[in-house]
Order: sequence, then C-alpha cells, then structure tokens
Amino acid sequence: MTSPSISKLVIVGVGLIGGSFALALRRAKLVDHIVGIGRSPENMQRALELGIIDEQTSDFSVALSGANFVLLAVPVKQTARIMQQMRPYLEDHTVVSDVGSTKQNVVQAARENMGEHIKRFIPAHPIAGTEFSGAEAAFPELFQGKPVILTPLQENDQQAVDDIAALWRSCGAWVSSMQPTQHDQLLAAISHLPHILAFSLMQHICTLSQTMNEDDPLALLRFAGSSLDDMTRITASSPEMWRDICLENRAALLTQIEAYQQELSALQQMLANHDGESLQKLFSAMRAIRQNWVASKNNS
Ligand code: NAP
Repeated sequence: MTSPSISKLVIVGVGLIGGSFALALRRAKLVDHIVGIGRSPENMQRALELGIIDEQTSDFSVALSGANFVLLAVPVKQTARIMQQMRPYLEDHTVVSDVGSTKQNVVQAARENMGEHIKRFIPAHPIAGTEFSGAEAAFPELFQGKPVILTPLQENDQQAVDDIAALWRSCGAWVSSMQPTQHDQLLAAISHLPHILAFSLMQHICTLSQTMNEDDPLALLRFAGSSLDDMTRITASSPEMWRDICLENRAALLTQIEAYQQELSALQQMLANHDGESLQKLFSAMRAIRQNWVASKNNS
C-alpha cells in the first residue's frame, strides 16, 4: 500500500509526538507544507526554528483551508474542545487523526463533535515516546520499529483508514487495529500502570527522606544507582499529559492498580515467610520473560 502524498499537513500540538510525526513525514518526502497550531508562542517559535513546521497560526480557518491531513497531538482532555474549534472549517476531503494515549474518550469526543466528518476521523495511538516534551524533543526516528494501534470506527471511510495506516508505516512504525475498550485495558496495564508506579516510587523516596529529617530528597537520591534511575526515568514526563491520561482511563487504571497491589502483597508474604524458594522461582520466571522480550525486540 503506497503512502498518500500530502500537499498540506496540519499538526495541532507541535510537541514530542506531533513534531516527530511531521519530521518523519518530511524525511520520507511525503509532505509539501506543514502548518502548526499550538498554545505557547515560545514552543511554536522553536518548532519554526527547528524546521518542524513551515507556518504557524492560531486561526483554524487559515490552517484547515486546503488541508489534506490533520493530526491532533495535544493532551487527551483537549480533544473535544479542539474538535469543536475545527469542525466549522473542515473540508469534506480532509482526513483527521489523533495520537491520544486513551481511546474511548477520544472516540466519544469525536462522536459528539465531528458530525458527518466522523467518517474521516481515524483514532490512532503510536506506542512510542520519551520522557521529554515540546518541539525541542521531537526527532524523526521516534516511531522506527514501534507499534501504532488504530481503533477504527464503523463509520470510518476505509480509504481514510488505509491512508493513515500507510502514513504511519512511512514513519517506520508497524500498524495493528483493535477496539477502543481493548486498547484502553491493554494500555492501562502496559503503560499507564508503570507510570503510576514510577510516580509513587519517587513519592515514597520523598516521604522517606522527610521521615529521616532530610528536607531535600537529593540527600538520599545522590546515593541511588541505576535501578532507581531506570525505574523513575518516566517521572520526567509531562505532568499535564499524565494527569489527563490517568483521569481519562480511570476505570481501567483502578482495576490494574488493585491487581498490582495483590501481586505486591503476594511478594510481601513470601518475604515475611522467609520463602526464598518462591522468591527465586518468581524472579527466575520473570527474568526469562524479560530476556525473551528483549531478544524479540532485537530480532524484529
Ligand atoms: P508534548 O510534547 O507536551 O506536546 C503537546 C503539545 O500540545 C505541546 O506543545 C502543547 O503546547 C500543545 N498543546 C496543549 N494544549 C493545546 C491546545 N489546547 N491547543 C494547541 N496545542 C496545545 O506532549 P506529547 O508527548 O507530544 O503528547 C501529545 C499527545 O500524544 C498526548 O495526547 C499523549 O497522550 C500522546 N502520546 C504521548 C506519548 C509519549 O510518550 N509522550 C506517546 C504516545 C502518545 P505547550 O507548548 O504550550 O505546552
């Protein structure tokens, strides 16, 4: 399937994900002109300086005139409001997609705000990222070898779905499809829970330092090695983005937190019982799974 060539691409939210998508399509020579719509003028100026976008505007009527594709790459809670702002100026042929980390809420926002244009709104989520944000953090290789999940709707135009899939493949990603509910349950376990654990682990270290009469957690953290570093890298991520993801996928995330608490309690029990055999069995099994996972990533 060949990628569509785009004469005008609009990126709403020119940060890590939106900026990287623009750079990847630019590198694949699939786009002539990129317009950015953003929030802070500083970030938009940086996006222009870095050559991520060719033009910036805060006016949707200007941005959407003659646009082939629009990518929504803002924190998920902004989706409905942006759709309301865009809707009057969307031309019938324009394909719209998003990159939101939660999908049921995005689909609901689209059904409530996109009207007839729902046929050309294709929900998507690239499973790629770093802990950095803003245009400065964008780079064209971000999606190389990474999955992108589409959650197409029954109302969708099949050509628009195929075009979005082809564009993501041109960015180096591999594409799969699932239902929005399935997506949100899966991501709650493999992405949203790990972020909650990292934030709470860092919080735990801060509380611990206070109980040791150390106001500054750095007094403890300067002794930390790569284990804590690895486990808390993602706490450097955008707080606004993660607040929205947690709240928008609240039910599935609460289920995962409860299930995880049971795993932690089981481990706590093994420790309380001096049960070295069970600990070693669990550690060995998990090490093997981790090794297989890393090997499969290296071979793909
Ligand atoms: P980011 O680097 O913080 O970029 C988001 C950009 O959106 C920022 O530049 C922000 O502007 C702008 N923005 C916020 N509200 C806006 C509004 N109302 N109108 C226009 N622009 C607005 O975040 P990101 O990592 O690219 O995340 C963007 C989306 O991708 C989120 O929905 C997230 O769930 C999803 N996602 C993230 C990752 C990841 O690992 N980071 C992975 C997959 C999907 P300011 O410059 O003013 O802040």
